[in-house]
Amino acid sequence: MVVTRFAPSPTGDLHIGGVRTALYCWLHARQHQGTFRLRIEDTDRERSTEASTQVILDGLNWLGLHHDGEVVYQSQRFDAYNAIIDEMIARGQAYYCWCTPEELDAMREEQKRLGLPQRYNGKYRDGGEPVPGVTPAVRFKNPTEGSVTWHDKVRGVVTVNNSELDDWVIRRSDGAPTYNFCVVVDDAAAKVSLVIRGEDHVSNTPKQINLYRALGYDVPDFAHVPMILGDDGKRLSKRHGATNVLDYRREGYLPPAILNYLVRLGWAHGDQEIFSMDEMLRFFRIEDVHSAASTFNTEKLRWLNQHYMKEATPADLLLQLLPHFAPLGITPDEAVVLRAIPHYQERAKTLKEMAENMAWLFQAPQSFPPDAAKKAFKGADTVQLLQDLQSRIETLTVVNEETLHDAVAACVEANGVGFGKVGQPARLAVTGGAPSPDLALTLSLLDKEEILRRLQFASEYVLKNQV
Ligand code: GLU
Repeated sequence: MVVTRFAPSPTGDLHIGGVRTALYCWLHARQHQGTFRLRIEDTDRERSTEASTQVILDGLNWLGLHHDGEVVYQSQRFDAYNAIIDEMIARGQAYYCWCTPEELDAMREEQKRLGLPQRYNGKYRDGGEPVPGVTPAVRFKNPTEGSVTWHDKVRGVVTVNNSELDDWVIRRSDGAPTYNFCVVVDDAAAKVSLVIRGEDHVSNTPKQINLYRALGYDVPDFAHVPMILGDDGKRLSKRHGATNVLDYRREGYLPPAILNYLVRLGWAHGDQEIFSMDEMLRFFRIEDVHSAASTFNTEKLRWLNQHYMKEATPADLLLQLLPHFAPLGITPDEAVVLRAIPHYQERAKTLKEMAENMAWLFQAPQSFPPDAAKKAFKGADTVQLLQDLQSRIETLTVVNEETLHDAVAACVEANGVGFGKVGQPARLAVTGGAPSPDLALTLSLLDKEEILRRLQFASEYVLKNQV
């Protein structure tokens, strides 16, 4: 039975790198009709927040990376951890360490001075007297001989000598079980078959494998996926721009674009760039994930996003687009947005840009960009042409793309001018300079009164400003 898990610590945002790990876990589980679990690693009570947990849940849900079963919260499992720790002490697999923080610091300083690796020296491994006033930590009796080897699905064979490990703390003196301990107990309890996680955990894996063995648990397989770098070669962080996946939602990226982008970041299938969910499930193999780090490329993500925006149906885009009007202070008419969408799918790379491009539909121009105005309103006859068009539209009883097209054509013909002489100022008058489709269609996205108001405003503007 294949079981994977995503085990984020709720101490900040849901990092885009974490989402890639979650995606790989999810894909691997789904490919093998297995189970994908979510565990919130909130043992660090000071740094963990509920808000951060909510961001993780919302982010995964938004992307459709749904987990199976209940979410496990480590903070609710302290009794289970402590019971196992106490058993280990009783069996002699773990022991109390009465060293004070000062003593441990001094030990490290001395090792540093001698150029030795900094490790616990095993002072209480074979027992020792309690020290009054000290609350002891509990340490795991790590084997002193031999080595730990595992066949990492991404990195290949990894071997670490036990002489490089020390008796690490499994319960701190404040009573809190440590990450390396909880992770083993929980992965074993969930029967996780493959641990997929960031490469920053490689150094923890030999310690964890020793603990699995001490507790008589089956050791899972491991796949450590490399880091994601920013364009300066440093680990991707806020300095490089958005790293929180919900920022990408706010910026107007679509879930399939993000998932497609992330699956390719560190994995390839020939030179294919576009992967539907079905294709990801068909072709992805955790063993094919590259062991070298990959660099985040926002332009490529934008390109993929545009691809998925073009592919989506207008009705589907509408639902995702509507929330992007609120930051612009617009409560849009959904029917108008729906009609406009097909004419904007080619023009925007994100939903946010699409909403910005459509803002003119709901916000009449208050003024015009000077350069555009100079160009479109420059003719001496501009006002007269705008007013002529206005009166022709005023008389229309049916206002639609066709009748508006005819009104513009009649205006052009009656005045004996080129189309641009009417088209340019009329377009600027109604859109204020925003990108827009063909003129008749553009006009038809507004209702009659609104078209007339905007044409009138533009005429007055030209007169007043002597453009
Ligand atoms: N909680 C750890 C982290 O957020 C992940 C641990 C794991 O996957 O084993 O880095």
